[in-house]
Amino acid sequence: MDSLSYLSQMFFLIALVCGIGFFIFNVRKVFRNINLGRPTNRTDNPNERWTLMTKVALGQSKMVVRPVAGILHILVYAGFIIINLEVLEIIIDGLFGTHRVFSFLGPVYDALIGSFEVLALLVIVAVIIFWIRRNIQKIPRFWKREMKGWPKDDANYILYIECVLMLAFLSMNAADYYAHANAGEDLAGSFPISKNLFFFFNSFGTETLHIIERVMWWFHILGILFFLNYLYYSKHFHILSAFPNVWFSKLEPKGQLNNLESVKNEVKLMMDPNADPFAAPSGDTTAVPETFGAKDVFDLTKVQLLNAYSCTECGRCTSECPANITGKKLSPRKIMMDTRDRLEDVGKNIDKNDGKFVDDGKKLIGDYIQPEEIWACTSCNACTQACPINIDPLSIIIDIRRYLVMEESAAPMELNLMMQNVENNGAPWQFNIADRLNWAESN
Ligand code: SF4
Ligand code: SF4
Repeated sequence: MDSLSYLSQMFFLIALVCGIGFFIFNVRKVFRNINLGRPTNRTDNPNERWTLMTKVALGQSKMVVRPVAGILHILVYAGFIIINLEVLEIIIDGLFGTHRVFSFLGPVYDALIGSFEVLALLVIVAVIIFWIRRNIQKIPRFWKREMKGWPKDDANYILYIECVLMLAFLSMNAADYYAHANAGEDLAGSFPISKNLFFFFNSFGTETLHIIERVMWWFHILGILFFLNYLYYSKHFHILSAFPNVWFSKLEPKGQLNNLESVKNEVKLMMDPNADPFAAPSGDTTAVPETFGAKDVFDLTKVQLLNAYSCTECGRCTSECPANITGKKLSPRKIMMDTRDRLEDVGKNIDKNDGKFVDDGKKLIGDYIQPEEIWACTSCNACTQACPINIDPLSIIIDIRRYLVMEESAAPMELNLMMQNVENNGAPWQFNIADRLNWAESN
């Protein structure tokens, strides 16, 4: 083995270990942050959950409700994943100094490389259409106020990365093909797209083609490692988290709200004539009293926090939300983005303070989400129905409302009046119970 080849293998090994290692380092932070949430039982009916995950996350059944975006998304997703099977060959070649190690598969290898090339071209076409829809056609859901700055740039960056990676793959193949053709040698594989797309390589010398092939090979694998690590900072983390996210979906009817255990316990205590009203819950005198509802990410469940990490920022929820459509400040997508932002800030706080969260004087409601947004919700569930990966923004809205009402007594005036009427008159209206039938008498 010559020293250049040895150096190249060593460099490859270091790049691979660093790339995967840094990714694992960041994913552990995501796990830690999600585990800041309250536990919740979402492991019932495992068979139903596996079926749902196969249908909704893998099969993308809810994506095709909007056929153009849905089919393009499936194409990019499937294409990108399948083409990256080729990464396995690149890794083996990189580690052992081989070249196209799977070429012994003969016709199977030809068919695989040929179909990868067709898929790569389709991915490029789909990515260009996505870019046009976002930036030229300016589809309204991509231009809402929460999509300014990083969310907008992030969505475009990923399109550029995907396009560049596919072009690197195709140009690498084309250079390899023409280098072998110039030298009169056979090269395993079939190259229906690359040899035509990069037809001008035909006029390059063999040495130049070898250099292009090596540069593109390195660019391709380093680009994939970069992409892997970019996921952590991007909404594209959903390509990994969508699967567990769907698995932990709410299986009960959409309109069914969960009972608040803390309230249930209080009521039970009130009804129990033998209960000691001053006793601490579960007899633990050091226990911190449970918050009613959610004021911060710590009060949300682990599944709600996983939802926040999984949001693709597609805006399908917001485009169906009647509050948003009628000009209210609420956007369910923003609820998920704000929850993730707060969780990330909490995570950074923990990293900075040796593993402990130090109160930063902020909370989810008030500093990230405003009460005006929360009270604009009609609880219609259009957002949960529209979400392609079964995210539940309504559950966060309801939990924050519960906090505002029960901990802060900060419900809007109209609601306070209505609740007062229910308490005093047994109905939401401002009439005495005795006057209820007055309307009948006057007719
Ligand atoms: S449940 Fe609330 S947030 Fe969701 S679509 Fe309806 S109004 Fe909008
Ligand atoms: S909550 Fe669902 S529908 Fe809404 S932006 Fe996120 S992924 Fe899209």
